[in-house]
Amino acid sequence: MKFGGTSMAGTERIRRVAGIVRRQQAAGHEVAVVVSAMAGETDRLVNFCREANPLYDPAEYDVVVASGEQVTAGLLALTLQAMGCKARSWLGWQLPIQTDDAHAKARIGTIDCPEMLASMAAGEIAVIPGFQGRTDDNRVTTLGRGGSDTSAVAVAAAIKADRCDIYTDVDGVYTTDPRIVAKARKLKNVTYEEMLELASVGSKVLQTRSVSLAMKEGVRVQVLSSFIDEDAPAADTLPGTMIVGDEELEGSDMERQLITGIAADKNEAKVTLTRVADKPGAVAGIFAPLADANINVDMIIQNIAKDKGETDVTFTVPLADLPRAEALLEGQKDKIGYFRMISDSKVAKISVVGVGMRSHAGVASTMFSALADRGINIQAISTSEIKVSVLIDEDETELAVRVLHTAYGLDGE
Ligand code: ASP
Ligand code: MG
Repeated sequence: MKFGGTSMAGTERIRRVAGIVRRQQAAGHEVAVVVSAMAGETDRLVNFCREANPLYDPAEYDVVVASGEQVTAGLLALTLQAMGCKARSWLGWQLPIQTDDAHAKARIGTIDCPEMLASMAAGEIAVIPGFQGRTDDNRVTTLGRGGSDTSAVAVAAAIKADRCDIYTDVDGVYTTDPRIVAKARKLKNVTYEEMLELASVGSKVLQTRSVSLAMKEGVRVQVLSSFIDEDAPAADTLPGTMIVGDEELEGSDMERQLITGIAADKNEAKVTLTRVADKPGAVAGIFAPLADANINVDMIIQNIAKDKGETDVTFTVPLADLPRAEALLEGQKDKIGYFRMISDSKVAKISVVGVGMRSHAGVASTMFSALADRGINIQAISTSEIKVSVLIDEDETELAVRVLHTAYGLDGE
């Protein structure tokens, strides 16, 4: 079981969490619980680091920010004990959760935890702070923001859990953001790949890394709400959204729609370089410096050359990286050989995602027609096997999502 920051924010909420944990144990499960820091706490700790030293040492930053989860882990263990349950905390360095030494964004290596397993088998609930681990030379690490989801999946994989239930402030994964489309429906299941595509295009229910890890390790993940009443359906009846492999889907859900979800992402910016030479190496000259600077390029369009052997190249980068990308490309202007750089941060990427489109034609054309009917102009397109994305004017985001939700028959009652 994993509980996010909103679920852990304060004594009352931790008591609610403890109640949910106790019910799972009473249902006959051995339980390990991974917790986040209280909502807002990690931001607060990050700020302290910045104030102390703007050029902070990431190893010491980790010592500071890992503390938020230590507090909630201890508090949950105390609360469970107050309810008469046997419980203890296992900090990242005690378990241990071994990571590499990439401080502030460490990757989990191995989790070998025979002691914890023995204690669980003896009826003790294990409480594990998410987000933290330790290096081979015993320094504290953290996994990058939102990393508790990854901790939970990694622990679930290590102890071969039947399920990894991720309790959060929403009750599952929806066809689209219910704040935009009131008729959005909760999905019973989503495949790992769909979830990865949805996460990477802005549907931030789970940290993307946790989904890749779940897919690699075959961990069955359920997303469900921690804000439930005593008489709410038990987690074992799968009230949330299950994230599973393709094979678990087949045949199980005849009524599954062609499109599973629609996501909107306003965190991209569009860059166009005009009159780039149409010759081998020109495009490499643009993207190599961006790659070296760790700037992720997403959509790319290169037009066919006009008469002068020149072409325009358009691509998108994360909004936060736009200033860096502009500076880099400006610096390389002569080397790359382009005429003008035009950038636009007022764009949104709208994506339709679904494994069903693998075996169906016409998914993209439905999208283009539905948008055209509403006069929404498409500035760029990209596709994968299970996703079609278009770039549009940011002001048209909500309209586009609503129109597509209807066009693909996703509207609920
Ligand atoms: N507390 C950490 C953060 O806010 C990790 C997490 O909650 O997943 O990023
Ligand atoms: Mg989170």
